[in-house]
Amino acid sequence: MAEKRKILIAGGGIGGITAALCLVRAGFEVQVFEQANELGEVGAGIQLSANAIRVLEYLGLREKLAEIAAQPIRYEFKIFDTAEVLQKIPLGDTHSKKHGAPYLQFHRADLLAVLVQKAHDVSPSLVHLGKTVTGFDEDEQGVTLKFSDGTTEHGDILIGADGIKSAVRAQIAGDTVPEYTGQVAWRVMVPTSDLPKDFMELITEIWVGPGKHAVVYFLRRGELLNFVGAVDHAEWSEEGWTVKYPWSDMKKDFEGWHPNIQTILDAADHDMCFRWALNNRPPIKNWSTDRATLLGDAAHATLPYMAQGAAMAIEDGAVLARALKASDDVNECLQIYQNSRIERTTKIVNESSANKKLFHLNSTQELKAAFAKRDISSERSNWLFSYDALNEKLSPSI
Ligand SMILES: Cc1cc2nc3c(=O)[nH]c(=O)nc-3n(C[C@H](O)[C@H](O)[C@H](O)COP(=O)(O)OP(=O)(O)OC[C@H]3O[C@@H](n4cnc5c(N)ncnc54)[C@H](O)[C@@H]3O)c2cc1C
Repeated sequence: MAEKRKILIAGGGIGGITAALCLVRAGFEVQVFEQANELGEVGAGIQLSANAIRVLEYLGLREKLAEIAAQPIRYEFKIFDTAEVLQKIPLGDTHSKKHGAPYLQFHRADLLAVLVQKAHDVSPSLVHLGKTVTGFDEDEQGVTLKFSDGTTEHGDILIGADGIKSAVRAQIAGDTVPEYTGQVAWRVMVPTSDLPKDFMELITEIWVGPGKHAVVYFLRRGELLNFVGAVDHAEWSEEGWTVKYPWSDMKKDFEGWHPNIQTILDAADHDMCFRWALNNRPPIKNWSTDRATLLGDAAHATLPYMAQGAAMAIEDGAVLARALKASDDVNECLQIYQNSRIERTTKIVNESSANKKLFHLNSTQELKAAFAKRDISSERSNWLFSYDALNEKLSPSI
């Protein structure tokens, strides 16, 4: 009975498409509705640890991911000007062996293309483009999704995977007002061929300094270097991936930083420097109605300071597909899903927010003292990376 349910998904991002693939694999009928006329991601990087890669491998994507990824050998936290290493987290084979799947880094467009191709292989009509969701109605018979073009679609269950500005969340939980964190994230990408030969090892670097930090890592088999620079800024800019700002502003923000950082910024395309205002959204306690629920950023938007936002969205899809088979009562299934996810996602959101302070402490001395008290490798180990969304025990509905 449960297998015959028709599930509507609002949003065709990483979370929505992964959920669709998990649900199809679990035997459900699924339709995804995406507002964009074309499925695509922005030119930015994304890191995914074992907890997310495990789900993508289960969907049969292991080889495809290996073709497009870079696999770093370790994380290094470094002081912004001297490059003194504060802490290391082993990745590479150590991460794979310990957590059962690799730690991989991607160009977002490459990752989404692999997911979209898989969705197309499953069913060419799984994803509907140019469909902006405006809201929904629900009753005992099911749920009716409403679109801006005046059309509707009927199903049994609705999943809002429509991102940080989710229309589905607004209806379920009311409008959440984003609070500006006082930090913006610069983003540039540099072809490795434009950098000096053997510029850096295949590692992920987090440079920490007063009022700012930078994350540097490779993508696409090491052909591209991704730079994200988070900076304390009184001035708000837009929350979005495609908002450009002058290269000279970015360069000024990282004045006095290590020569390697200057080399990356100098090699960047001066017309392709993006800046995103980072907002906090107060966590919501209830994601679900009788027939609708949320997933990914729509449910638990996070600051990117643990690189786990998309990973949580991917985990959500796998857990949801299992929860929807747990009972014939839809509402009970949605409660099982939410209860199984809320504690973990809240912990990740809160720890990510705490890193906002840790990475930006006022002086080298304070940074060194704070990092000396921590063992980030152990802290992030089993609970975070070994989590198995495909087998973790589901929580009861009450
Ligand atoms: C600077 C930065 C770096 C990050 N780095 C990482 C990282 O390394 N690792 C990681 O795991 N996470 C990272 N994240 C977080 C990650 O980007 C998000 O958590 C992830 O994209 C969430 O996926 P999603 O599918 O829930 O939402 P989205 O990716 O936002 O997808 C939502 C989709 O819904 C569509 N949509 C929106 N509204 C509607 C509507 N009304 N109707 C129909 N469709 C709609 C959108 O067009 C979009 O396609 C980072 C975030 C930032 C800002």
